[in-house]
Amino acid sequence: MGHEYCGIVEEVGSAVRNIKPGQFVIGSFFASDNACAICQADYQSRCVQSEYVGAGGAQAPRLRVPLADGTLVATLDIPSDDLIPGLLATSDVLGTGWFGAGAAHVQPGKTVAVVGDGAVGLCAVLAAKQMGAARLIAMSRHETRQQLARAFGATDIVTERGDEGVARIKELTAGLGAHAVIEAVGSQEAMMQAMRATRPGGHVGFVGVSHGVQLSRQELFYAEVHLHGGPAPVRRFLPALIDLVWHGKIQPGKVFDLTLPLDQVAEGYRAMNERRAIKPLLRL
Ligand SMILES: [Zn+2]
Repeated sequence: MGHEYCGIVEEVGSAVRNIKPGQFVIGSFFASDNACAICQADYQSRCVQSEYVGAGGAQAPRLRVPLADGTLVATLDIPSDDLIPGLLATSDVLGTGWFGAGAAHVQPGKTVAVVGDGAVGLCAVLAAKQMGAARLIAMSRHETRQQLARAFGATDIVTERGDEGVARIKELTAGLGAHAVIEAVGSQEAMMQAMRATRPGGHVGFVGVSHGVQLSRQELFYAEVHLHGGPAPVRRFLPALIDLVWHGKIQPGKVFDLTLPLDQVAEGYRAMNERRAIKPLLRL
C-alpha cells in the first residue's frame, strides 16, 4: 500500500551510474533494471530482477529504491510545488490507468467504459480521453467522483452496477457493448461487469488487483473478448507521462483531494475507507 512516491535523491549506491543526488525523481512501485528482455519488451513490472519498492509501501521519510538507474526517472529540473500532485500520480494511479486503457485497446473514435471510480479508474478515464475515445462512459455513483470523471473527459455516467450496469452500457451502445472496457476494482462483480459490457471482439483491460475473481471457462469461451491486465508496467509510461504533466497537458493530480502530513497517514486511510477522500497526498 502507499505505492506512489517522488522526491529528491539524497544518496546513491556505488553501482548507480545515472541517478544523482539532488535530482527530483519518480519511480514505479516495482523496481526494475529496465534492461532485461522482459523490460525491453515493456513489461518492467515483471522484470527478471523485479522487487517491491520499500517492501510494498513508500509512506516513510526516506525510501531505498533498488535498481535506481532502471527504476527511477529524473525530471529536467526541480518541479514547482503545483506540479508535485501530478508527478506523484504518474508513479502509480496514472501509470496504472494508462496501462488499463492501453490493455483495453482504446483507440480514436471508440466507445470506452470504465468500471471503478477510485483514483485508478478516474485516471483511466483521463488516459482514454488522451487516447482519443469518442464516447467515454464512467461507472460511478459518487457525485464528486462523477464530477472529476467528467472533468477528465467522461461523456456519460452510469450509476447502475452489476447486470443493471451492463444493461445500461448495452443501451448506450445500440445493444452491442463498448469496444474497450477498463476494470479498475478487482472484485468479481466488477470483472463480470467489464466482460459482459464489452462487445464481441472488444478488449478488457483489467488493472484492479484481483480479490478472488474467478472466471467461468464457458462464459469466457462465448464472450469472445480479449483480456489483458495485471500489475501495470508503470516504468514504461513514466517518461511520457512526466512530460505531459510537466507541460500542463494533463492534471491527474486532481485525484488527490486531501493533503496530510506523513504522521497523519492513518487519517488518510480512514478518509479513503469512508469515501470522504478519493486519494490523500502525504507530505513530509
Ligand atoms: Zn528487467
